[in-house]
Amino acid sequence: MTDFAESDWQLETLAIRAGADRTQFGEHSEAMFLTSSFVFENAAQAAARFGGTEPGNIYARFTNPTVTAFQTRLAALEGAEFCVATASGMAAITSCIMGLLSAGDHIVASKSLFGSTVQLFNTILSRFGITTTYVDLADLAAWEAAIQPNTRMLFVETPSNPLTELADIAALAEIAHRRGALLVVDNCFCTPALQRPLALGADIVVHSATKYLDGQGRVLGGAVLGNKQLLEPVFGFLRTAGPTLSAFNAWVILKGLETLQLRMEAHSRNALALASWLEQQPAVSRVFYPGLPSHPQYALAQRQQYLGGGIVTFEVKGGREAAWRVVDATRLMSITANLGDVKTTITHPASTTHGRITPEARAAAGITEGMLRIAVGLESIEDLKRDLLTGLVG
Ligand SMILES: *Cc1c(COP(=O)(O)O)cnc(C)c1O
Repeated sequence: MTDFAESDWQLETLAIRAGADRTQFGEHSEAMFLTSSFVFENAAQAAARFGGTEPGNIYARFTNPTVTAFQTRLAALEGAEFCVATASGMAAITSCIMGLLSAGDHIVASKSLFGSTVQLFNTILSRFGITTTYVDLADLAAWEAAIQPNTRMLFVETPSNPLTELADIAALAEIAHRRGALLVVDNCFCTPALQRPLALGADIVVHSATKYLDGQGRVLGGAVLGNKQLLEPVFGFLRTAGPTLSAFNAWVILKGLETLQLRMEAHSRNALALASWLEQQPAVSRVFYPGLPSHPQYALAQRQQYLGGGIVTFEVKGGREAAWRVVDATRLMSITANLGDVKTTITHPASTTHGRITPEARAAAGITEGMLRIAVGLESIEDLKRDLLTGLVG
């Protein structure tokens, strides 16, 4: 072996080493630069920086070395040329669309998107003349049929929340490109540790770094990743409009990335064990988890994702009353809709995340009254089973 370069490194190595740029002090852990602006040697350098003829930091709304380290590392993990870090996942989605779309443009999106994403599309983007059509994420013919002459973007989250349905990323990329649109994948649930949408043909990946990338429920953050030339206007939007990631949050998430692979494997292992156990429980009528052979898209999951991820959804017999009994009997799990934390969370989608839509819309989306979603954390699997058993047998 003669030339062992960063480009040869495996994901585990990149997650720990990529983007680490030491200062003159030789610190081992990445430095945190809490500074809003940067100084220049002289007037000529200031002019060159502002004029863009000399690279370097100017003001932290545009760039900051700690944020740059996070961007470089996450880009290495996603196999992306460029990364724009943002203040939250919603800031990432907003920046992606504000940077690339204009009034009159159209988006085709999967029906089962994160609630705030649907709110953004329906109540905010619509006021600026950007319209959205929603389709069933697994129905490729429906995606194709929804494309209009002004469709610029296909937007998908896979696996879906809470039903863990999968979209075929490679097939969607083919449709998007044939019809002159971009494919954007929200890779929040899998992270690059389990799924790499750009390698499957997607143009852009967006992240809520608030979830698994941080991994311990501490800070908000987000990112948009893809080709540099394509994302130049997204960076331009961020630079001007300012939904910038703070250096402190970038540092926290940078540290979170170091254990991403380990955590995602452990989340998936716990989730698979819990899902398999739930399938055996007489009080449970159905379990939704992409890592289970009973999942209707198991073959696609095996092909597209390295492991099943941390989200398990199941349905108990007896509707809302029985589901709430399981929630209320837990002593260990946190009753909250958040996910991507080492702490296991449990939520009743029909009365929380999907509580504001009509019962008919809920039924159409497949969300039943007996359904519960668990974002499986890293506690002992035996303790998690015991915590659920109380309410299941009660
Ligand atoms: C949480 C979440 C978001 C939004 O991220 P924030 O960091 O809360 O703004 C977007 N997409 C998915 C799939 C999410 O789970």
